[in-house]
Amino acid sequence: MNDSSCRSEFDTEALSVEQARERILDSLHPVPGEQRLALREALGRVLAADVHARIDVPPQINSAMDGYALRHEDLAAATGLRIIGTSWAGKPCPKSVSAGEAVRIMTGAVVPEGADTVVMQEEAEVDGRTVRVRATPVKGEFVRRPGDDVARGAVVLRAGKRLGAAEIGLLASQGYVEARVRRRVRAAFFSTGDELVGVGKTLASGQIYDSNRYTLYGLLHEQGVETIDLGVVEDNREALSAAFTQASNDTDVIITTGGVSVGDADFVKSVLREQGSVNFWKIAMRPGRPLTFGRVGDSCFFGLPGNPVSVAVTFAQLVAPALAKLSGTRIGEALRLQVPTLSRLTKAPGRRDFQRGILLERDGIMAVQTTGMQGSHVLSGMSDANCYIVLPEQCSEVNPGDIVDVLPFSATY
Ligand code: AMP
Ligand code: MG
Repeated sequence: MNDSSCRSEFDTEALSVEQARERILDSLHPVPGEQRLALREALGRVLAADVHARIDVPPQINSAMDGYALRHEDLAAATGLRIIGTSWAGKPCPKSVSAGEAVRIMTGAVVPEGADTVVMQEEAEVDGRTVRVRATPVKGEFVRRPGDDVARGAVVLRAGKRLGAAEIGLLASQGYVEARVRRRVRAAFFSTGDELVGVGKTLASGQIYDSNRYTLYGLLHEQGVETIDLGVVEDNREALSAAFTQASNDTDVIITTGGVSVGDADFVKSVLREQGSVNFWKIAMRPGRPLTFGRVGDSCFFGLPGNPVSVAVTFAQLVAPALAKLSGTRIGEALRLQVPTLSRLTKAPGRRDFQRGILLERDGIMAVQTTGMQGSHVLSGMSDANCYIVLPEQCSEVNPGDIVDVLPFSATY
């Protein structure tokens, strides 16, 4: 055991991750307002109403193969079938197929009346205007029926669905030009800390670049949120107070990083108490214990810890579900896998750890290994990782071969 596994971090005042998430979600409602947007602009937005199918897709009976459309019953007689025409995609054959006849057909072309089966051309032998079939297919083979994909009148997409690539394609397959979507959630954010310097400047002794605003910008945009970046705010009450006022103007969410600990320069909680209300501030997770949730005016407030990895982890566990609820979408359950660890992992008992891991395949089996150093300042590990390794509160160590819980980044169901 190392030092950290000997230290206990049980804290009776701290909420579990689930309790915190529940309290947050209970206090939030989807933002009001919707708009109609052209399909491409609607990418990433949340549907405001159910969408019904206007047409059958496919609209007409058509072929899944290049080949010959014919009557299945005619295949019993071994004689060839007479080819009476061709059905092209977009240019159907006007003739109908009668006994002893076949129509040459292309993929996507309408299956002519009378025919019920398509024989792929690889199974056909053609001699002049006659076609013979080598192996008898099942009746209806390679025929796509109207409405196979989506039947007219059916719900194509439910309200609350976030529109990704498949969804805007699906809407286009119905001929829709626009989608009715909810307005985007608006979030204002700023960093706090006297040591922080914006990129492009030279660092003096004791200073660091403000990376959190960039991470947050990325995380918020990945969630389809409209952002207002209020820069870096100094560690003093007046500056924070002014920033809170500005941030609460016409926003749904305010997110800050830093200044939520118990240090002498940590004013976020007390300013929040003056200007709004504090809901809770300790969570039994690591990284991310000092975290403040509350309200300022009409906006909900997240005071995230300052360490860069803590920002990413608390965002994923608590802010992202809140944004999903505000945006009116379903909150997908995170996909949780149980896999063996290849690394020895240690932690102090008392908090739930979200260690950064790499999910990989080893000898045909899925396994996970650590990204290495787990300090909450190690942002490079966040970039190397593709999952969190979740170690329960009471756990103090796991050894190679032990089964651990893993949350792949971005996998929900
Ligand atoms: P704090 O929560 O303010 O005590 O900050 C905890 C740690 O995170 C300190 O080492 C800070 O220097 C660091 N930190 C705070 N804000 C940022 C930021 N915006 N970018 C990078 N590091 C930060
Ligand atoms: Mg600070």
